[in-house]
Amino acid sequence: MSNLDAMVAARKRAEMVARMRNLAKAGPPSRGAGAPPRSSQERCDICHTTVPEDHRHMLHLVDRRIVCSCEACWALYSGNPEYRPTGMRTLWLDQFECDEPTWAGFRIPIGLAFFMRSTVTESVVAFYPSPVGATESELTLESWDALVACNPVLEHLDTDAEALVANRLSDPAQYAIVPIDHCYALVGLIKSRWEGISGGSAIEQAVPEFFAGIRARSVNASEVLR
Ligand SMILES: [Zn+2]
Ligand SMILES: [Zn+2]
Repeated sequence: MSNLDAMVAARKRAEMVARMRNLAKAGPPSRGAGAPPRSSQERCDICHTTVPEDHRHMLHLVDRRIVCSCEACWALYSGNPEYRPTGMRTLWLDQFECDEPTWAGFRIPIGLAFFMRSTVTESVVAFYPSPVGATESELTLESWDALVACNPVLEHLDTDAEALVANRLSDPAQYAIVPIDHCYALVGLIKSRWEGISGGSAIEQAVPEFFAGIRARSVNASEVLR
């Protein structure tokens, strides 16, 4: 890769991290005392009609942001080249394999991260939560390819729309493929509940709750992919 290419790639990654931080800011607000009350009604970002709390999201490919969408706009804009629905499936990877050397190859300082294939960076990017929101980790192609070789399900990870989430803080470790907006929600949740140096309740409670939620609405990869 030439110096210029490397600079452009670094710039793109920096922009992506900045966007992720903005998205994380829009995540679930802190429920602590003195926090402003959450507005009871969320709205479709396209037509501004009110939407239920559990609503669909789309990626605005030009602005590179996630928009909340009502059912009508979701159907109407799904074929629009500027919009792309976020991933739909929640797949629990009950037979996922990732040994210590493979994980170490990602150089992620905590046992919690999500990985997405990105058209912006034309690579696989890993993000892990921290008190300042999402932090990016440079991923080498070799380390990702090693993971895909052990887990062919990752060959079908939908670019920009889905992410692999890994939780190695739990025993046994948990892995799932989830729609990308769920990952932004996790980043926001952790940021809003981060305590002290090690995360406190963000890590001890919010993360297990989040994965329990994924588990509850997921299907097992071993049962649907044969
Ligand atoms: Zn709408
Ligand atoms: Zn929304």
